[in-house]
Amino acid sequence: MTRSHLFASLPIDRDEAWRERAGAGEFPIASAKRMYISSAGEVLLGDIDIDIEPTLRLWLGSIDAQPVVVDVIDLARDAALGDATWVDLRLAARSLDERDAGIAAYGRALMHWHEKHRFCGVCGAPTDILAGGHRRHCAACGTLQFPRIDPAIITLVEYEGRCLLGRQSSWPDKRYSVLAGFVEPGESLEDAVRREVFEEAGVRVDACSYHSSQPWPFPSSLMLGFTATTSSAELRIGEELQHALWVSPEELDVAVRAGEIKLPPRVSLSNALIADWFEARTGHPLPT
Ligand SMILES: [Zn+2]
Repeated sequence: MTRSHLFASLPIDRDEAWRERAGAGEFPIASAKRMYISSAGEVLLGDIDIDIEPTLRLWLGSIDAQPVVVDVIDLARDAALGDATWVDLRLAARSLDERDAGIAAYGRALMHWHEKHRFCGVCGAPTDILAGGHRRHCAACGTLQFPRIDPAIITLVEYEGRCLLGRQSSWPDKRYSVLAGFVEPGESLEDAVRREVFEEAGVRVDACSYHSSQPWPFPSSLMLGFTATTSSAELRIGEELQHALWVSPEELDVAVRAGEIKLPPRVSLSNALIADWFEARTGHPLPT
């Protein structure tokens, strides 16, 4: 791995006892580093001077002993915010530093979990927020709920120096990427890699190795990157893909420069997998 991923380098202390203290109101909000996200998951950027009661306050943890808080604001989009504006997190990440992007991503994922778990999954009663936003509790039956993430594998498959790329019909024109899919219950990551690659492209993976991971809060994924090899180039494209192909680094170089293949955004793990493969094979960075 040659790069650190967006959202993946947040130096936050996730101490459990600290969360309890935060939930008990031990830290004054004035001492916190605060970011704001909308209930639609956008980030507030610009000259921020607002005094609005949040619908949800999430005490994420501390950085250098300073509390870090994300306030979820539910307000009309045209409400007076001075010079500040709501920006989609994928776009906002371009102008935020790594730390703020990581805070916003953490807050966005946690907010999504709260939105989906307002009621107890066991008895249906409303649940309460505990530990500064890190647990929900059902007073009626005692069930505790903890934030969940959805693991998904993403895999670069190689056959004799060529890499497998595919595209879905819903993607932007000419966009190609490596294959990805959610991990199922009772399944290992390696089995998920083998299943997804076979389902999508009809390719049998011989071996796979872990590459790196990236939190991807759209809404609550953890992307787990792998590289894999196969001994057969035969493709049998499944329902999920519109097209798939094998490309050598030289072919990819030409296709990207000519605009015939558009790769996923540079902030994504899929792009990093392709870029690392390309650089390892050619000694040059991937063209943009
Ligand atoms: Zn309950």
